[in-house]
Amino acid sequence: MRKLALHWQILLGMLFGVVFALILVQFDWGKSFISNWIKPFGNIFINVLKLIAVPLILASLIKGISDLKDISKLSKMGGRTIGIYLCTTVLAVSIGLGIVNIVKPGSFITAETRNELLNSYANEANSKIEDAAKQSQTGPLQALEDIVPSNIFAAASDNGNMLQVIFFAIFFGIAMILIPEEKSKPVKAFFDGFNDVILKMIDLIMLAAPIGVFALLAALVAEAPSVDLFKALAMYSVTVLVGLALVIVVYLILLKIFAQKNPSYFLKGIAPAQLLAFSTSSSAATLPVTMERTVENLGVDDEVASFVLPIGATINMDGTSLYQAVAAVFIAQAFGMGLSLEAQLGIIATATLASIGSAAVPGAGMVMLVIVLAQAGIPEAGLALIFAIDRPLDMCRTSVNVTGDAAVSVIVAKSVNKLT
Ligand code: ASP
Repeated sequence: MRKLALHWQILLGMLFGVVFALILVQFDWGKSFISNWIKPFGNIFINVLKLIAVPLILASLIKGISDLKDISKLSKMGGRTIGIYLCTTVLAVSIGLGIVNIVKPGSFITAETRNELLNSYANEANSKIEDAAKQSQTGPLQALEDIVPSNIFAAASDNGNMLQVIFFAIFFGIAMILIPEEKSKPVKAFFDGFNDVILKMIDLIMLAAPIGVFALLAALVAEAPSVDLFKALAMYSVTVLVGLALVIVVYLILLKIFAQKNPSYFLKGIAPAQLLAFSTSSSAATLPVTMERTVENLGVDDEVASFVLPIGATINMDGTSLYQAVAAVFIAQAFGMGLSLEAQLGIIATATLASIGSAAVPGAGMVMLVIVLAQAGIPEAGLALIFAIDRPLDMCRTSVNVTGDAAVSVIVAKSVNKLT
Protein backbone atom coordinates (compact mmCIF):
# COMPACT_ATOMS: atom_id res chain seq x y z
CA MET A 1 0.00 0.00 0.00
CA ARG A 2 1.26 3.48 -0.89
CA LYS A 3 1.87 5.65 2.14
CA LEU A 4 -0.48 8.61 2.52
CA ALA A 5 1.26 12.00 2.12
CA LEU A 6 2.06 13.71 5.41
CA HIS A 7 -0.46 16.54 5.02
CA TRP A 8 -3.25 14.03 4.45
CA GLN A 9 -2.19 12.08 7.52
CA ILE A 10 -2.24 15.28 9.57
CA LEU A 11 -5.62 16.32 8.16
CA LEU A 12 -7.07 12.91 8.99
CA GLY A 13 -5.62 13.16 12.50
CA MET A 14 -7.32 16.52 12.96
CA LEU A 15 -10.61 15.26 11.59
CA PHE A 16 -10.61 12.14 13.78
CA GLY A 17 -9.76 14.34 16.78
CA VAL A 18 -12.79 16.57 16.20
CA VAL A 19 -15.17 13.68 15.54
CA PHE A 20 -13.83 11.70 18.50
CA ALA A 21 -14.35 14.66 20.86
CA LEU A 22 -17.82 15.43 19.51
CA ILE A 23 -18.85 11.84 20.21
CA LEU A 24 -17.23 11.63 23.63
CA VAL A 25 -18.65 14.89 25.00
CA GLN A 26 -22.10 13.32 24.67
CA PHE A 27 -21.20 11.19 27.70
CA ASP A 28 -20.84 12.54 31.26
CA TRP A 29 -17.33 11.18 31.56
CA GLY A 30 -16.27 12.24 28.07
CA LYS A 31 -14.77 15.64 28.86
CA SER A 32 -12.67 14.46 31.78
CA PHE A 33 -11.55 11.40 29.81
CA ILE A 34 -10.23 13.66 27.05
CA SER A 35 -8.55 16.03 29.54
CA ASN A 36 -6.89 13.20 31.47
CA TRP A 37 -6.07 10.67 28.79
CA ILE A 38 -5.93 12.42 25.40
CA LYS A 39 -4.81 16.00 26.00
CA PRO A 40 -1.46 15.02 27.58
CA PHE A 41 -0.38 13.47 24.25
CA GLY A 42 -1.10 16.78 22.53
CA ASN A 43 0.94 18.59 25.18
CA ILE A 44 3.82 16.13 24.79
CA PHE A 45 3.80 16.70 21.04
CA ILE A 46 3.93 20.50 21.47
CA ASN A 47 6.67 20.10 24.07
CA VAL A 48 8.96 18.11 21.77
CA LEU A 49 8.45 20.67 19.03
CA LYS A 50 9.30 23.49 21.40
CA LEU A 51 12.24 21.51 22.74
CA ILE A 52 13.76 21.61 19.27
CA ALA A 53 13.24 25.37 18.73
CA VAL A 54 16.26 26.85 20.55
CA PRO A 55 18.87 24.29 19.38
CA LEU A 56 17.46 24.54 15.86
CA ILE A 57 17.75 28.33 15.74
CA LEU A 58 21.28 28.20 17.12
CA ALA A 59 22.48 25.45 14.81
CA SER A 60 20.76 26.64 11.66
CA LEU A 61 21.61 30.32 11.97
CA ILE A 62 25.24 29.68 12.87
CA LYS A 63 25.58 27.17 10.05
CA GLY A 64 23.67 29.44 7.65
CA ILE A 65 25.76 32.51 8.33
CA SER A 66 29.11 30.77 8.39
CA ASP A 67 28.22 29.22 5.00
CA LEU A 68 27.93 32.74 3.57
CA LYS A 69 31.68 33.28 3.88
CA ASP A 70 31.53 37.02 3.37
CA ILE A 71 29.70 39.77 5.20
CA SER A 72 28.40 41.60 2.12
CA LYS A 73 26.20 38.61 1.22
CA LEU A 74 24.75 38.68 4.71
CA SER A 75 23.87 42.35 4.68
CA LYS A 76 22.28 42.00 1.24
CA MET A 77 20.09 39.11 2.33
CA GLY A 78 19.36 40.64 5.74
CA GLY A 79 18.22 43.96 4.27
CA ARG A 80 15.96 42.25 1.75
CA THR A 81 14.45 39.91 4.31
CA ILE A 82 13.55 42.63 6.80
CA GLY A 83 12.31 44.94 4.01
CA ILE A 84 9.96 42.31 2.53
CA TYR A 85 8.75 41.27 5.98
CA LEU A 86 7.79 44.86 6.80
CA CYS A 87 6.06 45.47 3.46
CA THR A 88 3.94 42.31 3.69
CA THR A 89 2.94 43.15 7.28
CA VAL A 90 1.80 46.68 6.38
CA LEU A 91 -0.07 45.24 3.40
CA ALA A 92 -1.83 42.70 5.62
CA VAL A 93 -2.93 45.36 8.15
CA SER A 94 -4.24 47.50 5.30
CA ILE A 95 -6.22 44.59 3.86
CA GLY A 96 -7.70 43.98 7.32
CA LEU A 97 -8.69 47.61 7.75
CA GLY A 98 -10.23 47.72 4.29
CA ILE A 99 -12.42 44.68 4.88
CA VAL A 100 -13.51 45.53 8.41
CA ASN A 101 -14.62 48.96 7.22
CA ILE A 102 -16.64 47.46 4.38
CA VAL A 103 -18.25 44.57 6.31
CA LYS A 104 -18.68 46.48 9.61
CA PRO A 105 -19.02 43.27 11.69
CA GLY A 106 -19.32 45.29 14.92
CA SER A 107 -22.71 46.61 13.89
CA PHE A 108 -24.09 43.05 13.93
CA ILE A 109 -23.57 42.68 17.68
CA THR A 110 -26.66 43.66 19.66
CA ALA A 111 -26.30 45.59 22.92
CA GLU A 112 -27.64 42.54 24.74
CA THR A 113 -25.03 40.14 23.35
CA ARG A 114 -22.34 42.73 23.96
CA ASN A 115 -23.18 42.94 27.65
CA GLU A 116 -23.43 39.18 27.95
CA LEU A 117 -19.98 38.74 26.41
CA LEU A 118 -18.49 41.53 28.51
CA ASN A 119 -19.80 39.88 31.66
CA SER A 120 -18.74 36.34 30.89
CA TYR A 121 -15.21 37.10 29.73
CA ALA A 122 -14.31 40.11 31.89
CA ASN A 123 -11.85 38.13 34.04
CA GLU A 124 -9.91 36.63 31.16
CA ALA A 125 -9.77 40.00 29.41
CA ASN A 126 -8.39 41.63 32.54
CA SER A 127 -5.55 39.16 32.80
CA LYS A 128 -4.52 39.93 29.20
CA ILE A 129 -4.70 43.66 29.97
CA GLU A 130 -2.40 43.12 32.97
CA ASP A 131 0.07 41.14 30.83
CA ALA A 132 0.12 43.93 28.29
CA ALA A 133 0.56 46.58 30.99
CA LYS A 134 3.67 44.78 32.20
CA GLN A 135 5.05 44.82 28.67
CA SER A 136 4.28 48.47 28.01
CA GLN A 137 5.58 49.96 31.28
CA THR A 138 8.86 50.58 29.59
CA GLY A 139 10.81 53.25 27.71
CA PRO A 140 10.76 53.64 23.92
CA LEU A 141 14.04 51.77 23.39
CA GLN A 142 13.19 48.86 25.67
CA ALA A 143 12.39 46.56 22.74
CA LEU A 144 15.85 47.20 21.31
CA GLU A 145 17.49 46.68 24.68
CA ASP A 146 15.64 43.39 25.09
CA ILE A 147 17.18 41.95 21.93
CA VAL A 148 20.65 41.86 23.49
CA PRO A 149 20.93 39.17 26.18
CA SER A 150 23.30 39.53 29.10
CA ASN A 151 23.63 35.79 29.44
CA ILE A 152 23.22 33.32 26.59
CA PHE A 153 22.21 30.42 28.82
CA ALA A 154 19.52 32.48 30.50
CA ALA A 155 18.29 33.61 27.07
CA ALA A 156 18.26 30.07 25.72
CA SER A 157 16.38 28.80 28.75
CA ASP A 158 13.16 30.59 27.77
CA ASN A 159 11.43 30.02 24.43
CA GLY A 160 9.98 33.51 24.72
CA ASN A 161 13.47 34.97 24.19
CA MET A 162 13.94 33.83 20.60
CA LEU A 163 15.16 37.21 19.43
CA GLN A 164 17.98 37.09 21.99
CA VAL A 165 19.04 33.65 20.79
CA ILE A 166 18.88 34.89 17.19
CA PHE A 167 21.07 37.86 18.15
CA PHE A 168 23.68 35.57 19.71
CA ALA A 169 23.64 33.16 16.76
CA ILE A 170 24.07 35.94 14.17
CA PHE A 171 26.86 37.55 16.22
CA PHE A 172 28.62 34.20 16.63
CA GLY A 173 28.22 33.40 12.91
CA ILE A 174 29.66 36.76 11.87
CA ALA A 175 32.67 36.32 14.16
CA MET A 176 33.20 32.88 12.66
CA ILE A 177 33.43 34.34 9.15
CA LEU A 178 35.98 36.86 10.37
CA ILE A 179 38.52 34.44 11.86
CA PRO A 180 41.02 32.47 9.71
CA GLU A 181 39.49 29.43 8.07
CA GLU A 182 41.80 26.90 9.68
CA LYS A 183 40.53 28.04 13.09
CA SER A 184 36.84 28.16 12.19
CA LYS A 185 36.85 24.80 10.38
CA PRO A 186 36.31 22.52 13.39
CA VAL A 187 33.64 24.81 14.84
CA LYS A 188 31.86 24.86 11.52
CA ALA A 189 32.08 21.09 11.17
CA PHE A 190 30.55 20.76 14.64
CA PHE A 191 27.60 23.03 13.87
CA ASP A 192 27.03 21.39 10.46
CA GLY A 193 26.79 18.00 12.13
CA PHE A 194 24.72 19.37 14.98
CA ASN A 195 22.31 20.86 12.46
CA ASP A 196 21.91 17.50 10.71
CA VAL A 197 21.15 15.78 13.99
CA ILE A 198 18.44 18.33 14.78
CA LEU A 199 16.93 17.88 11.31
CA LYS A 200 16.80 14.13 11.89
CA MET A 201 15.07 14.72 15.22
CA ILE A 202 12.43 16.76 13.39
CA ASP A 203 11.89 13.88 10.93
CA LEU A 204 11.32 11.56 13.86
CA ILE A 205 8.95 13.97 15.62
CA MET A 206 6.90 14.35 12.46
CA LEU A 207 6.20 10.63 12.42
CA ALA A 208 4.04 11.31 15.48
CA ALA A 209 2.37 14.42 14.02
CA PRO A 210 -0.95 12.79 13.08
CA ILE A 211 -1.36 11.47 16.63
CA GLY A 212 -0.25 14.78 18.15
CA VAL A 213 -2.77 16.83 16.19
CA PHE A 214 -5.49 14.27 16.90
CA ALA A 215 -4.98 14.84 20.63
CA LEU A 216 -4.70 18.64 20.30
CA LEU A 217 -7.91 19.01 18.33
CA ALA A 218 -9.85 16.57 20.52
CA ALA A 219 -8.89 18.58 23.63
CA LEU A 220 -9.78 21.84 21.93
CA VAL A 221 -13.25 20.68 20.91
CA ALA A 222 -13.95 19.17 24.33
CA GLU A 223 -13.00 22.36 26.14
CA ALA A 224 -14.61 24.87 23.75
CA PRO A 225 -17.12 27.39 25.12
CA SER A 226 -20.79 27.22 24.12
CA VAL A 227 -21.85 27.50 20.51
CA ASP A 228 -24.24 30.44 21.07
CA LEU A 229 -21.41 32.82 21.76
CA PHE A 230 -19.63 31.73 18.62
CA LYS A 231 -22.71 32.57 16.61
CA ALA A 232 -22.74 36.13 17.86
CA LEU A 233 -19.19 36.51 16.69
CA ALA A 234 -19.69 34.89 13.31
CA MET A 235 -19.49 38.09 11.25
CA TYR A 236 -16.29 39.15 12.97
CA SER A 237 -14.75 35.73 12.40
CA VAL A 238 -15.80 35.72 8.76
CA THR A 239 -14.17 39.14 8.33
CA VAL A 240 -10.88 37.90 9.81
CA LEU A 241 -11.00 34.70 7.75
CA VAL A 242 -11.71 36.52 4.47
CA GLY A 243 -8.82 38.88 5.27
CA LEU A 244 -6.49 35.96 5.99
CA ALA A 245 -7.52 34.24 2.74
CA LEU A 246 -6.76 37.46 0.83
CA VAL A 247 -3.32 37.66 2.42
CA ILE A 248 -2.59 34.13 1.17
CA VAL A 249 -3.75 35.16 -2.32
CA VAL A 250 -1.33 38.12 -2.12
CA TYR A 251 1.54 35.72 -1.28
CA LEU A 252 0.64 33.51 -4.22
CA ILE A 253 0.65 36.52 -6.55
CA LEU A 254 3.99 37.72 -5.15
CA LEU A 255 5.45 34.24 -5.63
CA LYS A 256 4.28 34.17 -9.23
CA ILE A 257 5.70 37.63 -9.95
CA PHE A 258 8.98 37.47 -8.06
CA ALA A 259 9.83 33.76 -8.10
CA GLN A 260 7.83 32.46 -11.12
CA LYS A 261 6.36 29.73 -8.93
CA ASN A 262 2.85 28.29 -9.24
CA PRO A 263 0.36 28.32 -6.35
CA SER A 264 0.01 24.53 -6.37
CA TYR A 265 3.78 24.01 -6.09
CA PHE A 266 3.91 26.30 -3.09
CA LEU A 267 0.75 25.16 -1.30
CA LYS A 268 1.53 21.46 -1.74
CA GLY A 269 5.03 21.95 -0.39
CA ILE A 270 4.06 23.99 2.64
CA ALA A 271 0.76 22.29 3.59
CA PRO A 272 2.10 20.15 6.48
CA ALA A 273 3.59 23.25 8.11
CA GLN A 274 0.29 25.13 7.69
CA LEU A 275 -1.65 22.29 9.25
CA LEU A 276 0.78 22.02 12.12
CA ALA A 277 0.58 25.78 12.71
CA PHE A 278 -3.18 25.41 12.76
CA SER A 279 -3.05 22.60 15.34
CA THR A 280 -0.40 24.12 17.61
CA SER A 281 -1.20 27.87 17.28
CA SER A 282 2.50 28.55 17.52
CA SER A 283 4.87 29.71 14.79
CA ALA A 284 7.83 28.82 17.00
CA ALA A 285 6.64 25.26 17.52
CA THR A 286 6.06 24.95 13.77
CA LEU A 287 9.46 26.38 12.78
CA PRO A 288 11.27 23.03 12.48
CA VAL A 289 8.72 21.79 9.97
CA THR A 290 8.56 25.10 8.09
CA MET A 291 12.33 24.85 7.61
CA GLU A 292 12.26 21.26 6.50
CA ARG A 293 9.47 21.82 3.98
CA THR A 294 10.93 24.97 2.42
CA VAL A 295 14.32 23.33 1.93
CA GLU A 296 13.20 19.88 0.86
CA ASN A 297 9.95 20.61 -0.96
CA LEU A 298 10.15 24.23 -2.13
CA GLY A 299 13.78 24.16 -3.23
CA VAL A 300 14.96 27.03 -1.02
CA ASP A 301 18.68 26.76 -0.36
CA ASP A 302 19.61 25.79 3.17
CA GLU A 303 21.67 28.94 3.51
CA VAL A 304 18.63 31.17 2.89
CA ALA A 305 16.05 29.15 4.82
CA SER A 306 18.20 28.93 7.93
CA PHE A 307 18.54 32.70 7.98
CA VAL A 308 15.12 33.94 6.79
CA LEU A 309 12.80 31.51 8.61
CA PRO A 310 13.90 31.75 12.27
CA ILE A 311 13.76 35.54 12.01
CA GLY A 312 10.39 35.36 10.25
CA ALA A 313 8.87 33.07 12.88
CA THR A 314 9.72 35.68 15.47
CA ILE A 315 8.99 38.99 13.76
CA ASN A 316 6.89 38.37 10.65
CA MET A 317 3.27 37.81 11.62
CA ASP A 318 1.01 38.99 8.84
CA GLY A 319 -1.98 36.98 10.04
CA THR A 320 -1.60 38.42 13.53
CA SER A 321 -1.28 42.00 12.30
CA LEU A 322 -4.38 41.65 10.14
CA TYR A 323 -6.29 40.15 13.04
CA GLN A 324 -5.23 42.96 15.36
CA ALA A 325 -6.46 45.61 12.92
CA VAL A 326 -9.81 43.88 12.36
CA ALA A 327 -10.31 43.19 16.08
CA ALA A 328 -9.54 46.77 17.06
CA VAL A 329 -11.99 48.27 14.59
CA PHE A 330 -14.59 45.58 15.40
CA ILE A 331 -14.48 46.45 19.09
CA ALA A 332 -14.75 50.15 18.28
CA GLN A 333 -17.77 49.44 16.07
CA ALA A 334 -19.40 47.27 18.72
CA PHE A 335 -19.11 50.16 21.19
CA GLY A 336 -20.53 52.54 18.60
CA MET A 337 -17.29 54.51 18.27
CA GLY A 338 -16.35 56.05 14.93
CA LEU A 339 -12.65 55.91 14.08
CA SER A 340 -11.14 58.83 12.17
CA LEU A 341 -8.76 58.27 9.25
CA GLU A 342 -5.97 59.41 11.52
CA ALA A 343 -6.87 56.79 14.14
CA GLN A 344 -6.95 54.11 11.43
CA LEU A 345 -3.52 55.13 10.12
CA GLY A 346 -2.33 54.90 13.71
CA ILE A 347 -3.67 51.34 13.79
CA ILE A 348 -1.55 50.48 10.73
CA ALA A 349 1.56 51.59 12.62
CA THR A 350 0.72 50.02 15.97
CA ALA A 351 -0.57 46.73 14.56
CA THR A 352 2.62 46.39 12.49
CA LEU A 353 4.77 46.95 15.56
CA ALA A 354 2.53 44.88 17.84
CA SER A 355 2.70 41.91 15.48
CA ILE A 356 6.50 42.16 15.40
CA GLY A 357 6.48 42.23 19.19
CA SER A 358 4.06 39.29 19.56
CA ALA A 359 5.79 36.12 20.71
CA ALA A 360 5.34 33.12 18.41
CA VAL A 361 3.18 31.27 20.95
CA PRO A 362 -0.58 30.69 21.32
CA GLY A 363 -2.62 33.75 22.19
CA ALA A 364 0.29 36.21 22.04
CA GLY A 365 -1.41 38.31 19.38
CA MET A 366 -4.26 39.03 21.76
CA VAL A 367 -1.98 40.35 24.49
CA MET A 368 -0.36 42.75 22.06
CA LEU A 369 -3.79 43.76 20.77
CA VAL A 370 -4.24 45.60 24.06
CA ILE A 371 -1.51 48.00 22.99
CA VAL A 372 -3.22 48.66 19.65
CA LEU A 373 -6.49 49.35 21.48
CA ALA A 374 -4.87 51.65 24.00
CA GLN A 375 -3.13 53.65 21.30
CA ALA A 376 -6.35 54.14 19.33
CA GLY A 377 -8.37 55.01 22.45
CA ILE A 378 -10.64 51.95 22.15
CA PRO A 379 -11.90 50.47 25.46
CA GLU A 380 -9.66 47.55 26.42
CA ALA A 381 -12.54 45.80 28.14
CA GLY A 382 -13.70 45.10 24.60
CA LEU A 383 -11.26 42.20 24.57
CA ALA A 384 -13.99 40.32 26.39
CA LEU A 385 -16.09 40.55 23.24
CA ILE A 386 -13.68 38.52 21.16
CA PHE A 387 -12.36 36.13 23.78
CA ALA A 388 -14.64 33.21 23.02
CA ILE A 389 -13.54 33.04 19.41
CA ASP A 390 -9.87 33.83 19.86
CA ARG A 391 -8.43 30.34 19.83
CA PRO A 392 -9.89 29.21 16.49
CA LEU A 393 -8.81 32.51 14.93
CA ASP A 394 -5.36 32.13 16.50
CA MET A 395 -5.07 28.77 14.75
CA CYS A 396 -5.91 30.36 11.39
CA ARG A 397 -3.71 33.42 11.79
CA THR A 398 -0.76 31.28 12.86
CA SER A 399 -1.14 29.27 9.62
CA VAL A 400 -0.97 32.53 7.69
CA ASN A 401 2.04 33.72 9.71
CA VAL A 402 3.92 30.56 8.81
CA THR A 403 2.81 30.71 5.16
CA GLY A 404 4.15 34.27 4.96
CA ASP A 405 7.55 33.29 6.32
CA ALA A 406 7.82 30.47 3.79
CA ALA A 407 6.70 32.68 0.88
CA VAL A 408 9.27 35.34 1.78
CA SER A 409 12.01 32.70 2.02
CA VAL A 410 11.22 31.58 -1.54
CA ILE A 411 11.27 35.19 -2.80
CA VAL A 412 14.53 36.02 -1.02
CA ALA A 413 16.10 32.77 -2.28
CA LYS A 414 15.10 33.63 -5.84
CA SER A 415 16.55 37.13 -5.52
CA VAL A 416 19.96 35.76 -4.52
CA ASN A 417 19.88 32.88 -7.02
CA LYS A 418 19.47 30.23 -4.36
CA LEU A 419 16.18 28.69 -5.49
CA THR A 420 16.12 25.38 -7.32
N1 ASP B 1 -0.03 32.30 17.78
C1 ASP B 1 0.54 33.21 16.83
C2 ASP B 1 1.85 32.68 16.30
O1 ASP B 1 2.51 31.89 16.95
C3 ASP B 1 0.75 34.56 17.43
C4 ASP B 1 -0.61 35.14 17.72
O2 ASP B 1 -1.15 34.90 18.80
O3 ASP B 1 -1.17 35.81 16.84
O4 ASP B 1 2.24 33.00 15.20
